[in-house]
Amino acid sequence: MQTPAVRINLRNIEENARLIRKRCQAGGISVTGVVKGAAGDLKVAEALLRGGITSLGDSRLKNIITFRQTGFKGEIVLLRLPQLAEVEKVIEYVDISLVSELATVKALSLAATKAAKKHGIIVMVDVGDLREGLLPGELADFFSKIISWPGLELKGIGTNVGCYGGVLPTRENTELLLKLKARLESKFAVKLGTISGGNTATTLLLEDLKLPVGINHLRVGEGILQGTDITNQRIIKGLNQDNFTLVAEIIELKDKPSVPQGEIGHDAFGKIPQFPDRGTRRRAILAVGRQDVKIDGLTSLRQGIEILGASSDHLIVDLTELGGEYQVGDHLEFRLDYGAMLAVMTSPYIEKQYLEEPAD
Ligand SMILES: *Cc1c(COP(=O)(O)O)cnc(C)c1O
Repeated sequence: MQTPAVRINLRNIEENARLIRKRCQAGGISVTGVVKGAAGDLKVAEALLRGGITSLGDSRLKNIITFRQTGFKGEIVLLRLPQLAEVEKVIEYVDISLVSELATVKALSLAATKAAKKHGIIVMVDVGDLREGLLPGELADFFSKIISWPGLELKGIGTNVGCYGGVLPTRENTELLLKLKARLESKFAVKLGTISGGNTATTLLLEDLKLPVGINHLRVGEGILQGTDITNQRIIKGLNQDNFTLVAEIIELKDKPSVPQGEIGHDAFGKIPQFPDRGTRRRAILAVGRQDVKIDGLTSLRQGIEILGASSDHLIVDLTELGGEYQVGDHLEFRLDYGAMLAVMTSPYIEKQYLEEPAD
């Protein structure tokens, strides 16, 4: 096996997709499966589709173009607000864009008209997380401008919390979306069919039966890919975790003191390192580093292995507790948090190894 590698359990991901979809469906909610955390990996996208997902979401147009080029004909949602320079491609490859700027909607309208197409838009509302979206008070004015623009299909309104400000989805901030919908529908005599309530973090409200009736769409990535909900600090019950793990090879294994010898300057990242003296320790160097992965997002799958640190190309672990169990050439495997998964899936130095079988 070529390493470093990310081991991807497609069957587990497929099962997660199926369960998320089933839970949402039971609450009258359609799901866009979000693939960006796996850097738009095609096999991962296919696992979502096998799990019954019919709408794919990604933040990068490049990934979306690949989905289309490999023959996906279903609905695609662009999750990051479109850049003005990409609107023609957005019209060509994407069905629905999330929007919050007049200039962008105007450009989409012009490009869609030129291509003789209708482009779906969901107007984003910022209910407090301070990432994308109009503030609630700005919405009516925005609608009054875009409502008559050609080439567009006004699908509805949506919100995103939990990603930037760490704001938790609540009944209150989700209900706000429904109040705004009612106001806009009566003021402009339109039907807003899609009320897109949020991402993985909002599935907790759904499970607790606290999601206001009327929210009918969620965009779920982390939950399907990782089986976790980091915003609410939980593992999602019934879902598979550790669907992405990192495998790296031991290239040096030696007993060394735990404190460096010599005058201490700055490390390769400009920090002055601190080391507690724990005597002589058995340490391994693995052939993977900061260029490939977010080190603080790694946890050893095996107990008794402690990550000490890393430089660009070397990860250093302490495996004193496991005595003589390992030798040079052996592999260690690590659990990845969302950020670490994102990094390894994006690194061209990490091989991808697909497992079709469930882990258990
Ligand atoms: C990334 C993203 C999602 C998916 O978020 P998860 O937490 O992975 O479920 C949903 N909506 C938008 C706008 C996003 O950018």
